[in-house]
Amino acid sequence: MFDLQTALTKSEIEMKMQEVPSLLLAWYHQNRRILPWREEVSPYRVWISEIMLQQTRVRAVIPYYERFLKTLPTVSDLAQADDDLLKKLWEGLGYYSRVRHLKAAAIKVMEEFGGELPADYKLLQTLPGIGEYTAGAIGSIAFGLKVPVVDGNVFRVLARVFASHIDITKPQAKTVFTKLAALMLPDTPGDYNQALMELGATVCVPNGAPLCEACPIKNLCASYNTELAELLPIKSEKPPRTVQEYTVLIYCHDGKVFLQKRPEKGLLAGMWGFVMQEGIAEPQHFEFPVVPLGKSKHIFTHIEWHMVGYMVFSKEASADGIWVTPDELSGKYAIPAAYRKYRDAIGENIG
Ligand code: SF4
Repeated sequence: MFDLQTALTKSEIEMKMQEVPSLLLAWYHQNRRILPWREEVSPYRVWISEIMLQQTRVRAVIPYYERFLKTLPTVSDLAQADDDLLKKLWEGLGYYSRVRHLKAAAIKVMEEFGGELPADYKLLQTLPGIGEYTAGAIGSIAFGLKVPVVDGNVFRVLARVFASHIDITKPQAKTVFTKLAALMLPDTPGDYNQALMELGATVCVPNGAPLCEACPIKNLCASYNTELAELLPIKSEKPPRTVQEYTVLIYCHDGKVFLQKRPEKGLLAGMWGFVMQEGIAEPQHFEFPVVPLGKSKHIFTHIEWHMVGYMVFSKEASADGIWVTPDELSGKYAIPAAYRKYRDAIGENIG
């Protein structure tokens, strides 16, 4: 069938596959967290929530989700939204390519699907920013399609229940766990997929011992209350991130600060930011008066920015960009979290 890399016998695996779903569903119906996207389900609402939840914790997402839905309640509103408004609605959530993809996908939905997200697993994946995972979530939760959803939570729960020693950083893990999850899908795939993820998020937690005593499937779990639970899933070390050093320059003149748009490709593509120079500059390197704003570090998935910042009192920004007031900066333009320390220092220095 597929190699789970476990010491369990075929009949033990089959028994777990058969019995886990009903127990998990019963538990979910009693214990699920009340979340805004669960209270009123629609393809659009599930889509927005899933994209926001991709890199961000549930609690942090809720206010963003509510504000986004209030401002842009339909696919059509999203397709027509102003780019700066979108970035502002996303400010602080990070990974801004998500919101660019959302708008591009909304435009495609309006042009090619008559304004409705398609109820089809493959067609959903033709939309920008929607891969297997998000298509599975929208498909199963909003349309009741019998498709699995496999994320880190699901890897963890399945690896522990089946005592699987597959390395989840390898592509083979996704293939195997996706097949396993698909074979376990009951007739209510949306609830089941959410139940599995919910168990991983609240009971079969990462980083330390899971809460096995509270687990509805403990009697079926091959790792229940053993050291194995903390050792699984197997995850080989990632290569270290690349460190890049920059000097961040916040030009100020006449009560305004200078913003520069980042290139359309690469990190923080198309976002507003400050002038950046490669390397770490010392205060004596400047020909204009400066105020040192200190060091800051920002971690992206594969890269770390190590920065030093300065307010530069000059109108010679020598770059393309715009001059904005502090009020415009807070009310209109989204500044990525990578620059937060320097953005926050602006008020104190030119206020
Ligand atoms: Fe996870 Fe423990 Fe439940 Fe097994 S019994 S699924 S290890 S919480």
